[in-house]
Parts: sequence; C-alpha cells; structure tokens
Amino acid sequence: MRELIMVRYGEIYLKGQNRPYFLRLLVKRVNEAARPFGATVWLHDSRLIVSGMDDINACMERIRHVFGVHSVCPAIEMDKGDFDAVMQKAAELMQGKSGTFKVMARRSDKRYPLDSPEINARIGAYVLAHVPGLTVDVKNPEHVLSVEIRDWAYLYATVLPGVGGMPVGSNGKAALLLSGGIDSPVAGYLIAKRGVELVAVHFHSFPYTGERSKEKVLTLAGILSSYACGIKVFVVPFTEIQMAIHEKCPPDHTTLIMRRFMMRIADRIADKEGAQALITGESIGQVASQTMEALVCTDDVASRPVFRPLIGFDKAEITQWAERIGTYETSCLPYEDCCTVFTPRHPVTHPRLERVHAAEQSLTDAEGMIQRAVDGVEIVNT
Ligand code: ATP
Ligand code: MG
Repeated sequence: MRELIMVRYGEIYLKGQNRPYFLRLLVKRVNEAARPFGATVWLHDSRLIVSGMDDINACMERIRHVFGVHSVCPAIEMDKGDFDAVMQKAAELMQGKSGTFKVMARRSDKRYPLDSPEINARIGAYVLAHVPGLTVDVKNPEHVLSVEIRDWAYLYATVLPGVGGMPVGSNGKAALLLSGGIDSPVAGYLIAKRGVELVAVHFHSFPYTGERSKEKVLTLAGILSSYACGIKVFVVPFTEIQMAIHEKCPPDHTTLIMRRFMMRIADRIADKEGAQALITGESIGQVASQTMEALVCTDDVASRPVFRPLIGFDKAEITQWAERIGTYETSCLPYEDCCTVFTPRHPVTHPRLERVHAAEQSLTDAEGMIQRAVDGVEIVNT
C-alpha cells in the first residue's frame, strides 16, 4: 500500500491534436514542482500520478500552484485482492467527515469478482457502520468516496482545487512591468496563468528609491515565480531619465512621459528576450496616467501588444486577487516606488498626443539615455 497524489488537468481536455504537447509540458511543470520532495510523476489514464514524496501535504500544496492543474487528491493505492482491507481503508478515509456521502466505484478490471454496484453497496454499508455522523445521499452528496479497481485499487475522498490555467511555456513569453505595488504582480499572475512565460522589468531610481524597495520587488517576483516557473528580473537604472524629465518637461506631463520611457525600455528588453508582448497592471481610470487618453499616449511608443489583464477590475477586486495569490502583504510594505517619488501635483488627465510629442522634444538625448539605462541593467534570477 502506498500514498499517491492524483492530479487532474483542466482545459487541456479541450485540445485536439495538440493535446500530447500540452500534456508533456504539464508533466514537466508538475515534475519541477514535485522533484524537491523526492517524488516522481507520470501520466496515467488522463491524469498525472505523483508518488514517492517525503511530505505528501507539502508536495500537494506545491502542485496546486502549477498552472494547468485543475485539482489534486491524496489517494491510496493498495492490493485489490483483499476486499476487507479495502473496506477498512475506505472507512479510515471517511473518518472525521460528517453529513452525506456516496461511494463511486469504477471498475476497469472487468474480471474483478465484484461489479461496481456491488462495490458501492458493500463499501457504503461498511462506512455507514463504522463512521458515525454520515448518511447516504446518492443524488447530491457532500462527500464522494471514489474507489477505482484497476491493476490496483485506488481510493480517494478529498479533492482540492488547483489554480487552473495552462502550463507555463505553452503560450509564448511576455515582459511584465513589475512595480512594488498591488496591481502589477496580479497582472503578471493572470497572464502567466494562461501559459505565458514571464520576464520582469523593474525601474529603479537609486538613491530616490532604496535597496529595500528593490528587495521588495524581487520578493514579489519570487512569489510570482513559484507559479510561473522562475522569472528573470531586469532591474533598470532609471534615475537619469526621471531627473531629466523632471527638469525639462512640463510638470503636468512628467508622469505620462516617464511611463512612455518605461514602455520604450521594456520594449527593448522584450526584443532581446524574445518576448512577444508587454504586461502592465493598469486599469481604466485608476489614476491620471490610466485614463483612456493616457493609455493611448502610452501605447503610442510600444512596438508590440500591451496586455492589461486588470483593465476592467476595481481596486477591491485586484486586492482580493493579491491576497489569494500571496503577494498582498509584500506589496503593502511602505517603501517608495519611483512613480511616487516624482509625482506631480496636477498631472494631465486628458493628454493629447501632439502635446506629449512636443513636450518630449526638450529631451534631446532621449536615445542616449535609453541606451545607458538598457546597458546598466542588473539581471536577477528568481
Ligand atoms: P501598481 O504598481 O501595482 O500598478 P500603481 O497603481 O501605483 O500600482 P502605477 O504607478 O499607476 O501603479 O503604474 C501602472 C503600471 O505601470 C504598473 O502596474 C506597472 O505595470 C508599471 N509600473 C509602474 N511603476 C513601475 C516600476 N517602477 N517598474 C516597473 N513597472 C512599473
Ligand atoms: Mg495600478
């Protein structure tokens, strides 16, 4: 007898001819998650089986975070020949549960002496007799005890939801503009969930933003990388550009121009990294730089699609997501971000592109500044 984890996948079911490709990638991702626990993973009858882990609960928690995983359940694999032992184990799995239940037997070994209705009836009666507080409801039970008779008997009674989505790497690569705020980590999570590999770009204005604000962003990237299979973070020195904008551009346009420079630089990094899109944590109307007109002015400088998965979310909804994925606490640490340091008192809310272009004319060495920022990048793997 041994303990296993059964892993079910979600949307991959919908794939046609490409399904083996997605499944191979999912096995690879689950393997990466389970390997530190000493486990091995294989594909068996349209689900993944994980065995040999030293700590089943910790391993299961880790696997629940893998994109592409619909649900996991702890299961027992045992000798199907000793039906008394199977019944005992079934009762053990149901101990501590109360309310209604049913047994759901599946028998793929057709030579097995009991058929599915008989297995249901016998195990159901045994559990009823041995576990107090349970009654049978075959239509709408609170608990389902599954018993599968294959080469071995498999028993499981607890199904835990996974994060869903598609395995990372199955849908290209994108560069996430990652600040220390609440929004951008959630934006990265939602795109990675669809199978997109991430790299992160962070703009750092030393000494206006300190070492701790950089550490905070790297911690956020670390949390994201537990879902997204490792994230390379590009920390871009942004002080020269911010100072120049601050000195030379009209105050009401500085934030918008700064965002355009972020886009330009992220675009260059995306080029080098083979990332096909950019991602930001913007949502319509959240702040002055996120009005419809401001977003149009920002997109003007990007040479690839800009994904904004939070575009229709309220702050409260974004916060719920941040709590759910575990980034909220870190995002709330009070260290300054480069945006907050240089925020003008009255930013323009309905910018016009011609005015923005005119305002940027005063930055005569724009190309040189961008190049120096790109050359000065520090790369951190999380
Ligand atoms: P958050 O940073 O979480 O979005 P926020 O609402 O304060 O919080 P803004 O300052 O409005 O963010 O920036 C909007 C988007 O621009 C961010 O979601 C992020 O994608 C990007 N961004 C802002 N500051 C930085 C930075 N320092 N480094 C990288 N990207 C940034
Ligand atoms: Mg925001």
